[in-house]
Amino acid sequence: MSARIKIVNATHLRFDCPGCNDIHMVRTGGNGWTWNGSVDAPTLEPSVLVQGPLNGDPDGRCHSFVRAGRIEFLSDCTHALAGTTVDLPEVDAAGMADDDGGDQ
Ligand SMILES: [Zn+2]
Repeated sequence: MSARIKIVNATHLRFDCPGCNDIHMVRTGGNGWTWNGSVDAPTLEPSVLVQGPLNGDPDGRCHSFVRAGRIEFLSDCTHALAGTTVDLPEVDAAGMADDDGGDQ
């Protein structure tokens, strides 16, 4: 199975962001994001906005929609993929399983 999103625990998902070359964590359920339940073609609502140190930029901003396994970067992103839509990379369950200690 080509998972593009990783289930961290009962309330958190994460995905590899090709714009930031980093992972983004999303909280689901309750007042968190809505997830369609698919790991290979995930859709998250509403948009995901990450601000702060990203990809070497201390004032980074990454704003995206994850829809059907693709990530649509809005034009206000500070990285090179702003305004583009690309496939979410597959998450490597073995490789990047490292630091899931805390919640955000
Ligand atoms: Zn990002």
